[in-house]
Amino acid sequence: MQRPSFHQRPALALAALAVLVLGLAPACSSANDPAPLAGSLAGRDVILIVADALHAHHLGAHGYQRPTSPTIDHLALTGTLFADASSQTSWTVSSVASLFTSLEQERHGLLYANQHLAPDASTLAELFQDGGYRTAAMIQNGILWSRRDQPDWPGTRLCRGFDSYEMFPDMDRVQQELDRLLTRAREVVLEEERPPLFAYIHLLPPHEPYTPPAGFRDRFDPDYAGPVDGSLDSSLRVALSHEGFDQPEDLAHLVALYDEHLAYLDAELGRFLTELWAARPDSLVIFTSDHGEAFREHRNLGHGSQVHEEMVHVPLILSAPQSPLPQGRVCGSPTSLLDVLPTLVELCGLPQTRQTPRGLSLVPLLAEPLTTPAAFEERGLLFTSRYKAAHPEQLNIALRQGNYKLLRHWKDQRDALYNVAADPLETDDISGQRPELARALGRALEDAYRASTRDVVGDDQAAPGTIPQDVLDNLHKMGYLGEDGGD
Ligand SMILES: [Zn+2]
Repeated sequence: MQRPSFHQRPALALAALAVLVLGLAPACSSANDPAPLAGSLAGRDVILIVADALHAHHLGAHGYQRPTSPTIDHLALTGTLFADASSQTSWTVSSVASLFTSLEQERHGLLYANQHLAPDASTLAELFQDGGYRTAAMIQNGILWSRRDQPDWPGTRLCRGFDSYEMFPDMDRVQQELDRLLTRAREVVLEEERPPLFAYIHLLPPHEPYTPPAGFRDRFDPDYAGPVDGSLDSSLRVALSHEGFDQPEDLAHLVALYDEHLAYLDAELGRFLTELWAARPDSLVIFTSDHGEAFREHRNLGHGSQVHEEMVHVPLILSAPQSPLPQGRVCGSPTSLLDVLPTLVELCGLPQTRQTPRGLSLVPLLAEPLTTPAAFEERGLLFTSRYKAAHPEQLNIALRQGNYKLLRHWKDQRDALYNVAADPLETDDISGQRPELARALGRALEDAYRASTRDVVGDDQAAPGTIPQDVLDNLHKMGYLGEDGGD
């Protein structure tokens, strides 16, 4: 089989992919050799790449008009794009813990950076380690800190199961840190005479501050002459509609800077993937994000506070071109980051988890014959926003079932119902037109949330602690520790 290359793919293919993603084709479509997939990727390298705060809407593969993502779009063509994938929550630490454990944040208990992961939940890294893999984490977002060198303070415990857990968190040097991280990732991947590798690579862009380097800055909004520069301060001023920061062109420029930051990330990723496929062509690559990013679609900027689509709709791509997995498949079934762990357990033949995974294995969506199992349409996916340390009642929650999503807003004390297949940006609240459905989903939402807070895994997951000063300094620079605790 020919090795994939990461040059710009034909415009026709991009258009065809965009049409499929926009829902004009059956939920799943592909041509692939029928083969049993369970265990079919055992012993192969698995590279899990997370780009922080990437709303899937901003990708060409999802129909976005700006050329933000030729690499990611091409990666989708070499594998399966799960076009309707969601994170369980809308901020980093809880979402990554859900990705690692297949548990909602209430169940895994890691709700903030001074808490730690439920001790009784197996993590993805532990499963790979137990399966004989070398496990390596390389992380650019400092809030994911976790240290084994402080025995009296276990930190988030996200490092559990990793042979190495390396941080590249300097917020004053985002581009240099990204370079350093990817250089290290190349070393790890290219190492000779090693066991199979599970690598978790967490890249900060397009997360703010939106600081695209020369060559990317001014690519999408070159004539803007206002005060927005992508810094945290200017974003905050736009968010609060400060005088001089409340013009439509200011918000539009913020979006342009985000897109330029994404285009920069995409180019860096392209170089890394080209080298990865050249050295280890039979690897499995999983690309996703921990949450999305809002630009006032529903008043807010950033992420963490809400569970609208702009904050939870994330890319999810599985690509292993030299394997029985399909290529060029676009799957429209509702999927979740909770599904990644059970999928990898099945594909790679890993040990079973101690906890019952809350996600479903995606293997039935990868296999032949083409089917859309009812389980994906019928299950209720629970979404919860970040807890506010000072205002725990300010919790936005939602339940997704099939095409419908019911959101409960703490602020307005009201529900809103959306058909997210027909209305992916949630602009049309149909709760008044479908009152019975809204009531039924409201009851299901309450049941699901109550169950999630009752069925916590482990018994000391919420123990608070103190965050070391050097970690705190970096979190301040990222805007995580603002007046409301940041997001
Ligand atoms: Zn994040």
